Amino acid sequence: MDTDIKSMTLEELKTEMERQGEKSFRAGQLYDWMHNKLAASYEEMTNIPLSLRKKLEDQYPYVSLKPVEIQESRLDGTRKFLFALSDGNMVESVWMKYKHGNSVCISSQVGCKMGCRFCASTLDGWERNLLPSEMLDQIYAITRLTGERVSHVVVMGTGEPMDNFDNLLTFIHILTEEHGLHISQRNITVSTCGIVPKMKELAEKGLSITLALSLHATTDEKRRKLMPVAETYHMDELMDACAYYFEKTGRRITFEYSLVAGVNDTPGDAMQLSALAGPLNCHVNLIPVNPIKERTYRQSGQAEILAFKNKLEKNKINVTVRREMGRDIDGACGQLRRRHIYEEKSR
Ligand code: SAH
Repeated sequence: MDTDIKSMTLEELKTEMERQGEKSFRAGQLYDWMHNKLAASYEEMTNIPLSLRKKLEDQYPYVSLKPVEIQESRLDGTRKFLFALSDGNMVESVWMKYKHGNSVCISSQVGCKMGCRFCASTLDGWERNLLPSEMLDQIYAITRLTGERVSHVVVMGTGEPMDNFDNLLTFIHILTEEHGLHISQRNITVSTCGIVPKMKELAEKGLSITLALSLHATTDEKRRKLMPVAETYHMDELMDACAYYFEKTGRRITFEYSLVAGVNDTPGDAMQLSALAGPLNCHVNLIPVNPIKERTYRQSGQAEILAFKNKLEKNKINVTVRREMGRDIDGACGQLRRRHIYEEKSR
């Protein structure tokens, strides 16, 4: 959308203000209000003349997400936010407090078309891509609501970021450049189900963000049962793309591996995962699968999880088990939004 002012880079905003016959320093002021002071409306922009604010109001709709529901975990303070977009769609985002800082997990699309069997985000299909402004404002709104600075961002909420590639790149640019929140690229992780051509393209963008690959299985056959995308891109292509990403960026890849009882958690799976991960400079993140009620998948037992981790460690693989946060709230991707949509329909 070419009137989406919050998705414009500083350069684009300068051009736009010139086109409007405004002084060029107005672009800097506006940008500062949007991306640094995190204004929720034009009204707050007190050093912009009223006449200009009025003109902007009329011509450039201002994206500002409204919280519909906020849940807070009593276990660890994790907060889950459901936000309304201007077209009535809803997205969810998660705020997590760690020792190293506050981390926000954002959505990149409304719904998802990837169809991973264990994931709640994909059950109702895909609605649309999020604009850069709508990705940014998840972080901005959470900063406004918590009053605390965000230091880490993971694009691991609903949606497949590589399926919204251009908007993702603009989002990263605005989030990390010096006139906005200036979040370090090293503190940004983008997670993909494995869209190979886009992984390679991302490798060539000169960014120092972390790429996480949702692997979840070690053979094409097994992976196809969990993730339809595995029909299109095969294991050897995936591993090549990961090696290429490291070669181009020097950034270690993260493999995400959700442990599902009896599906991908045997000692044999751990051996095969070691063989895949060994030659790559990578980190394996084991995620006890978060069961969703629409599917019968169960979480692996503590003993299996530990044995799996030990086996990888024995094979000198860098591995962690993800601490489960916010299990007492609708924690798994897409569950909060889904519950809300259904409650609304039944009303
Ligand atoms: N589409 C991207 C990012 C969103 S999913 C991707 O596939 O990576 C973020 C991560 O959560 C992925 O690793 C995904 O496989 C995982 N995930 C989704 N639902 C889950 C569940 N119920 N339990 C555990 N992990 C889940």
